[in-house]
Amino acid sequence: MKTMGLLGGMSWQSTNTYYSLLNQGIAAALGGLHSARLMLYSVDFDEIEKLQHAGKWEEMGELLAAGAQRIEAGGADFLMICTNTMHKVAPQVEAAITIPLLHLADATGQRLQDAGVTRAGLLGTRFTMEQDFYKQRIIDNFGIDVIVPEAGDIEIIHKVIYDELCLGIVRGESRATYLAVIDRLRANGAQAVILGCTEIAMLVKQEHTTMRLYDTTTIHCEEAVKLAIAD
Ligand code: GLU
Repeated sequence: MKTMGLLGGMSWQSTNTYYSLLNQGIAAALGGLHSARLMLYSVDFDEIEKLQHAGKWEEMGELLAAGAQRIEAGGADFLMICTNTMHKVAPQVEAAITIPLLHLADATGQRLQDAGVTRAGLLGTRFTMEQDFYKQRIIDNFGIDVIVPEAGDIEIIHKVIYDELCLGIVRGESRATYLAVIDRLRANGAQAVILGCTEIAMLVKQEHTTMRLYDTTTIHCEEAVKLAIAD
């Protein structure tokens, strides 16, 4: 089994989910007492959040690149950045290491393409929804039209992530807000919705809607398990 490298803590709520899903995946694949072989480097998210909202991406790239180097030095065979948003600095991180990066947007785009989705809605942080580093990669590499909510909805979706989900707070009222946004994406032609923030599945699950949901945390972990046990 390969050793997975996880750059986590963004937030620790979702890294917690990653740890469970990766171990469940390995146990399901290999049986018995098997568990995931992994290296985790977990940052202090307070520092990252402040830099994000100050637009200091270069500085964050340096921080994450240093974390990735420690993971590689620890013996990981491949790297996962356990947040969609921080894939904005993926090129900087990749340039600092020699092990491959299991890119979250690529894993997600492949799933959508395999399922025949041609137009998908995207929920995530404001950075992920408004900027091109994530959605344009899915558009360019997989030919899928990615649409985002209107400006007011983007603000609410973003606020719930930082003020609630990253703190482990799950509120029914916020779920209703998210479901209303998902319905508006459907009205705009989305055939599926990407939960493009690793905490969103804490709030919105498939059982809450008839819209097909693609949870990036689950997809990322499933692909990591496959890669870890591949010859
Ligand atoms: N975990 C989130 C994501 O997947 C948001 C937190 C962050 O900004 O890293 O985008």
